[in-house]
Amino acid sequence: MPTADELRARYRAERDKRLRLDGDQQYVEPTGRFAHFVDDIWTPRVDRDPVIEDVEVAVIGAGFAGLVTGARLKQAGIDDVRLIDGAGDVGGVWYWNRYPGAMCDTAAMIYLPLLEETGHMPSQKYTMAPEIFGHAQRIATTFGLREGALFSTSITALDWDADLARWIVRTDRGDELRARFVTMGTGPLHRPKLPGVPGIATFEGHSFHTSRWDYAYTGGAPDDGRLTGLADKRVGIIGTGATAVQCIPHLARSAKELLVLQRTPSSVDARGNHPIDPEWFASLPPGWQDDWRMNFTILQTGGFTDVDLVQDGWTDISQRIRDRIVTEMEAGRITDLGPEAFRQAYEVSDDEKMEEIRARIEALVDDPDTAEALKPWYRQLCKRPCFHDEYLQSFNLPGVRLVDTDGRGVDRIDATGVWVGDEHLELDCLIFASGFEVGTEHARRAGFETTGRGGVTLTDRWADGMQSLHGIHVREFPNLFIVGPTQGANLISNITHNLVEAATTIATTIAHGVSVGATEIEVSAEAEAAWVALIDTHPGSIFGDTECTPGYYNGEGREATRRDRRNSSGHPLGAVAYFEHIDRWRSDGAFAGLEFRG
Ligand code: NDP
Repeated sequence: MPTADELRARYRAERDKRLRLDGDQQYVEPTGRFAHFVDDIWTPRVDRDPVIEDVEVAVIGAGFAGLVTGARLKQAGIDDVRLIDGAGDVGGVWYWNRYPGAMCDTAAMIYLPLLEETGHMPSQKYTMAPEIFGHAQRIATTFGLREGALFSTSITALDWDADLARWIVRTDRGDELRARFVTMGTGPLHRPKLPGVPGIATFEGHSFHTSRWDYAYTGGAPDDGRLTGLADKRVGIIGTGATAVQCIPHLARSAKELLVLQRTPSSVDARGNHPIDPEWFASLPPGWQDDWRMNFTILQTGGFTDVDLVQDGWTDISQRIRDRIVTEMEAGRITDLGPEAFRQAYEVSDDEKMEEIRARIEALVDDPDTAEALKPWYRQLCKRPCFHDEYLQSFNLPGVRLVDTDGRGVDRIDATGVWVGDEHLELDCLIFASGFEVGTEHARRAGFETTGRGGVTLTDRWADGMQSLHGIHVREFPNLFIVGPTQGANLISNITHNLVEAATTIATTIAHGVSVGATEIEVSAEAEAAWVALIDTHPGSIFGDTECTPGYYNGEGREATRRDRRNSSGHPLGAVAYFEHIDRWRSDGAFAGLEFRG
């Protein structure tokens, strides 16, 4: 094993190769001549009359954020709930992402929300996308959330009308909803981005983004990875992130030739999937899902529990760090449990873990040069960790070639293929597994502007970064509730845990407002400022960690500004502290920091 210093030097050298001056600006927006890359290919758009109505709650976004919020509102006795989404159905990212092999890297027992409420048993420890999409549909059906929902409908403007004390929701269908309350769960990772490679617009072969997989061209289906249409095709794929890792095994088996165009390799750990035993599942006590979620979160963020219920790659690294600290303390080598002890334990555990990841590549990939190029040289959590039992073996198949660009990316695209250095690679089909916009302005990602009291826009209000109480309430935006992880728990390893807690909090708050006859619920300026001041004390996350290899986790490797930190941080004491805080806050009946007017 290389020494810690050797590893650090290698990590820096690899990072430097990947650093680019244009950072976030390198990507191409799916607009103009690229607009078709984001068309809804799953549901035909059907003309309908505009809806002009009063509603109690408009729920913007019908992914898990909106579904769980809608469900909690119904449970709290608020019936007039109207979902609005640009997609043709519920599901959010699971509506759009139907690429072959798509699955969730977080265990279904904790990822799939409302399992107890819907009575669903996940088929496997990690479920495939069609089952997850099906579960989103199940939540909608169970809680009557399809009634009155406006699908294939994009919001064009959201404006606070102070006289009516309502939000006016305008859409591209000519709708005008006057909503008492609005919840906004528009998701952090839904707007596809394309690689800013010179000549991208000139390619004359077939191309699409993974979030709009073109089965009409490739053959196969979301639940059938036999892509028969590619049997005579030379396919290139740009990207080797979490999406690519999942679809490449299917492309590798189906295409005549597959060229994997790699800029930075992912760290790919073992998956270890297995079916869920119905007898065992039936024996779980009521309330098990809350316990499981919290158990995972405690372990994943370095805490202690008697038992590891989920047992997976997410909790492994944190437990290694925790166990190392305990061993070192018992041996008397560390006496002070400060950040330095944590940093040391983290580095040693991470070095060990990454050596295992690299050794796994050597064990599974036959060609030594390919194996070498697939090795990730960075700390595991610098990029999204991946888990897969077939990805690495794909490179042993005839017809599959890893084209490693040594951190540079594809140099140029032309009518017939791509250039990497001096080599021209001819392609029939070019697939963009190039990810989604992160960190761009809220209005740009949501697709509409939100204008609050006195004409202030959310874009202006958040010009210096997000401002909120609990990541939910924003001053000057009464009766608006944000559903997301930022400035809350910010738990990336299980996004739906954030959503369930936000939804429960929002439904409790709205139900309380309705019960006291409030027409306006708004956070006080002091409470918001105090929360933002708390968020500002966050010691700093991966965002802006310039030691890490560039990517969307760290703002493409640039120094983090205050705006970046506010847009990417959660509670400074971690996810568990936030979840405990928000549970107390919504349970004690005081709703401290909110003004109920009416
Ligand atoms: P990512 O942003 O993670 O990956 C994009 C890929 O495209 C990277 O490999 C990137 O390289 C590459 N790329 C971009 N531009 C170029 C270029 N010019 N030349 C060559 N390569 C380029 O997107 P994904 O869609 O893979 O994943 C996005 C997120 O979605 C994940 O991080 C995860 O949070 C979520 N996801 C979750 C899943 C789950 O299990 N629940 C499954 C799939 C996705 P580089 O690394 O160098 O930037």
